[in-house]
Amino acid sequence: MQLFLDPILGRPLPIQDDLKPDESGNGYALRMTEANGIQFSQLARSMASLGHRYLPNEVAGKIAYLFGGNPIDVGKAIPKSYREKGHIITVFKDCILTRPYHVRRSWTQVCPLCLLNTGFAQALWELSLVTACPVHYTRLLDQCPKCFRKLTWRRPSLLECNCGMRLEGAELEAPSEAELWLSSTLFCLLSDIRMSPERGIPYAFLANLSLDVLVRLIRALGISSGPEHVSNFRPGKLTRVLSSKEAVQVVQRAFLRISDLYEDRANRFTSASLHLKEVADICIHSSQAEQEKISLLFQRVARLEKIDKSITNSFQMDMFYD
Ligand SMILES: [Zn+2]
Ligand SMILES: [Zn+2]
Repeated sequence: MQLFLDPILGRPLPIQDDLKPDESGNGYALRMTEANGIQFSQLARSMASLGHRYLPNEVAGKIAYLFGGNPIDVGKAIPKSYREKGHIITVFKDCILTRPYHVRRSWTQVCPLCLLNTGFAQALWELSLVTACPVHYTRLLDQCPKCFRKLTWRRPSLLECNCGMRLEGAELEAPSEAELWLSSTLFCLLSDIRMSPERGIPYAFLANLSLDVLVRLIRALGISSGPEHVSNFRPGKLTRVLSSKEAVQVVQRAFLRISDLYEDRANRFTSASLHLKEVADICIHSSQAEQEKISLLFQRVARLEKIDKSITNSFQMDMFYD
């Protein structure tokens, strides 16, 4: 790629634009390669190793330089991971995520109608439990409806699959209320927008959690289908990035279980289908204000599990009790 092989940074490309406020860093790179008549794969090859399906955070400065974006903004719009005390921490749009599998990197998902209307890919779509577009009331797409291959950033353009299928022609499913609520709440948390309090929605209290605690809680409550107990999961199953379809199921199950727990209908499912170790960990590591928000939920989970008080004392989980 002679184009980028200038001794230091290459040369800025002729068509320049800044990153949009809610735009994905990789989406920005795909939009700008398309505008400049080059391929994302060429850019990825010159920036990272061959075969890369996305651009890592380390090349944010180069992308910004090539396309005229603000390097700090582009850097924030590409997930960045580092190790801290043995844990992988991911920072994305200034939000901290303590579980790497909540962020989709290679395998993207899109709202084709947003792409058609606004011309850019939203950073929000990179969060694994975001399954819906609150603007168009549709589910997101992570697979080509024609060739069934998973969508990556390495495609001809924002709206085109490698097989030539135009994504705006895809049929889109309607999301559930819970999916819409979660996706718009995560949008507000990621974009640091204050949410207007909603009344009448039983799970509205969850909006006051941090983005990290919220996604961890939903995944811990919804990851198991029920017959499949969390303790029986094969290694790796709990730490896998979910497909859009799997995420839809996790979100729907989590919200059904939350309302069952609140209405004390916990006999509808067994405690073995909740990821209790993760729930306990969330409990320990969330702030006092967050614990207060979810304490009733935790109490119900504890009652369901019949957690021994001596055990919860050592976990400092007194709030598990009525
Ligand atoms: Zn949309
Ligand atoms: Zn295709």
